[in-house]
Amino acid sequence: MGFPKPWPTTWPDPGLDPESPEDEPAIDPGEVPIERPEDRIYAVTWAVTHVCNLGCNHCYDVVPDARRSLSTEHATSVIDRLSTAGIDFIAFSGGEPFLRKDILELMAHCRTLDMRIGARSNGTRIDRALAARLADLQTSVVGISFDGACARTHDAVRGPGAFEASLAGVKALAEVGVRTQIEVVLSLSNVNEALDFVRLGEAAGAAEVNFSALTPNGRGATQKNYLLSPELQQEMVAQLREAATQAAVSVTPNCAFEGPCVVNIEPHITCDGWVSPCYLSKTKMFNMLEIAPETFGSRLRATRNQYLDVCGRKAWRPRHKALAVVA
Ligand code: SF4
Repeated sequence: MGFPKPWPTTWPDPGLDPESPEDEPAIDPGEVPIERPEDRIYAVTWAVTHVCNLGCNHCYDVVPDARRSLSTEHATSVIDRLSTAGIDFIAFSGGEPFLRKDILELMAHCRTLDMRIGARSNGTRIDRALAARLADLQTSVVGISFDGACARTHDAVRGPGAFEASLAGVKALAEVGVRTQIEVVLSLSNVNEALDFVRLGEAAGAAEVNFSALTPNGRGATQKNYLLSPELQQEMVAQLREAATQAAVSVTPNCAFEGPCVVNIEPHITCDGWVSPCYLSKTKMFNMLEIAPETFGSRLRATRNQYLDVCGRKAWRPRHKALAVVA
């Protein structure tokens, strides 16, 4: 899964030496002028509910402890605190964020604070009416997860009818002009369809197809037989980097697949307000409702180096050199 963002992510230049500090790739040099990640922490992904209508066998949002979603009042307070902390983009995720009854209210509150909003969804609940509301709210981007580029492979993971429902969600958003991002987690079960996902994105009117790789986190820990080998992962990076030069949609990598680690730079917030280093980490660093919002950035910078590559990607990206941050 990727991080839905209001800007395109890019492939690091393959000609750069990952061991050379001078050649450290910049991150997100897209249309929106953005400082280097160590200079500013401005985006979070927030799993506002743990509830989901699907039961994917690789879901990362699996925790050993019971978690209860925040009330509307407390969730609104989290948004206020994030705004005070300097965050200006929240990607609402889950679970399935559109199962939360007050999700549009929370998104609207962000907009009153002039924060940008996105969502990360399975797409099955997005019909024309919801798409129109998201357009009204000037939603920057909605990421929709696909596990297969056709009904057979997608539904094998997500259940009968899921492919058509997710595709309808992408099309509904595209029709009202909301930027959509197809999010793919590559594994041995779908790697043969990698280029088909790009075609799917083109045909459905998506703006971007973002690739990640299965990791042994969450339910993925039970799917180790489907992990890409380091060699296959590198081959797919090369194939998709090439596809990106030809495709009518943006074809981009998620950090777990290629590129700099954004741990603590794009932190994750759980449904009960705990801040984690990234969406693949279950570490509870601090609770958003218990800290002074002004300390949010400094807390994250102070511990970034200890969580780098917490997803375990060194196992499949042995050449990777992560960006370090001076606390
Ligand atoms: S540990 Fe770093 S590279 Fe891995 S998913 Fe988290 S932010 Fe991305």
